[in-house]
Amino acid sequence: MTETAASQENHYFNRAGWLRASVLGANDGIVSTASLIAGVASAGVPVSDVLLAGTAGLVAGAMSMAAGEYVSVSSQADSEKADLAREAQELRTQPEFERQELADIYVQRGLDPDLARQVAEQMMAKDALATHARDELGITMASKPRPIQAALSSAASFTVGAALPLAAVVLSPQSWITINTTVASVIALGLLGGMSASTGGAPITRAVMRVTFWGAAAMAATALVGALFGTTIS
Ligand SMILES: [Zn+2]
Repeated sequence: MTETAASQENHYFNRAGWLRASVLGANDGIVSTASLIAGVASAGVPVSDVLLAGTAGLVAGAMSMAAGEYVSVSSQADSEKADLAREAQELRTQPEFERQELADIYVQRGLDPDLARQVAEQMMAKDALATHARDELGITMASKPRPIQAALSSAASFTVGAALPLAAVVLSPQSWITINTTVASVIALGLLGGMSASTGGAPITRAVMRVTFWGAAAMAATALVGALFGTTIS
């Protein structure tokens, strides 16, 4: 029973983690691009300039997400690799100490010393490094960090989010650009927030209120700056 249940749970967990990362990327794309557009449009520049700024914001944001994610996941992978190398070395040089260390961990988790010793021996006979990685270091071999994949997926989800306010610019008459972009973006933020809250089993209303409030606040702030700056330079 345990093997199937554990792997199903693991799949569910991976999917939830993947979904959360995508929603986060899309959120970022919507908020930053919509705020940029609101700021530039409020300064009273031509539509072509608003589009140019929005597109540059999309590209810059996607690149920055990809680079940030790549660096962070790579360094996580490096430190896991170093931990595993150290553990493998210790298993070679002091196997008896390592077996006792593992048994002590199982005792802490509630097993009798004799049983803990037996469990440690049998687990280590099968795959000593995987056992120590999981039970001592908390590293599961199944969920290896993948820097390239993480970079590509966060850049992609940011791009999808950023495309929405850009589409609102293209589809709006000039005098409606700021209002249409912000309203469409706040609605999309609310939908995304509600979706991810319901997937994670969190209270939906609170999640929607929080994400729409802060999204609207970001857009209002840049619109204000744009309006002030636009008045100053023109
Ligand atoms: Zn160990």
